[in-house]
Amino acid sequence: MNKTVLILLLVCLSVCGAQAQISWPDGKKAAIVLTYDDGLKSQRDIVMPQLEAKGFRGTFFLYGQVVKDSDIPEWREAARRGHELGNHSLFHPCLAGTVETSSSSLCRSLECYSVKDMLTEIGMMNSFLYAIDGKKEHAYAYPCGQSVAGGEDYSRPLLDSGLVKYCRGAAGRHVVEDAKTLNFALIPTLPALTGCKADDLIKYVQDALDKHGLGIIVFHGVGGDYLTVDAAEHQKLVDFLAAHSDEIWVGTFSDVLDYVAEQAKK
Ligand SMILES: [Zn+2]
Repeated sequence: MNKTVLILLLVCLSVCGAQAQISWPDGKKAAIVLTYDDGLKSQRDIVMPQLEAKGFRGTFFLYGQVVKDSDIPEWREAARRGHELGNHSLFHPCLAGTVETSSSSLCRSLECYSVKDMLTEIGMMNSFLYAIDGKKEHAYAYPCGQSVAGGEDYSRPLLDSGLVKYCRGAAGRHVVEDAKTLNFALIPTLPALTGCKADDLIKYVQDALDKHGLGIIVFHGVGGDYLTVDAAEHQKLVDFLAAHSDEIWVGTFSDVLDYVAEQAKK
């Protein structure tokens, strides 16, 4: 290979690489989405005030069985303030042995579901959420990150059904770097596990910055409930994001994914 061909090849490779990169709005270098699962009290009491103090909004994936009547006004008010409510199914079915089994006599394990059952349940939860936030469209997060019902992967049928536009899965913990190759039915996410430290999460944010990518973190309890991350560690992450707001877009799941979906069309 002569020198000119080699240079042309290198130029092409660098241009192709640049085209695949997501171009974020307002000169930002990365986007971070903070998501919170299972509709927990600590998310309303601790997370929302921490986020709102910095002007951020989060995405809260609720499942029907956990939402008490008395909580509904608070969730409705949170949605009114700009937080996103997402669909996490009605009964949170997971594969047998993943979580404590429900006290119900009905089988709530994913092995007992068909794809059709799962889609019906997600449709019902959409109606439930519509009654709370008045929104017709909701994003979805797979309970336990598992997308197999009755032995069949329901991620593609779910996206094709049009019930939801974007699904947060457990297909890896990596930063999303390329809009065109992103599978919107299984969007990767980093779980903030019990006792996880802000510094570990900040490393992931830094990785998103380095790659000009999208990072999505999922929390459960913060300063309470279960799978708990310390409130001070969550605050430290929020402070870091606020200190870098000139280069990081902190948005809700659907807002950021709407933007990425537009980029994928270009
Ligand atoms: Zn969950």
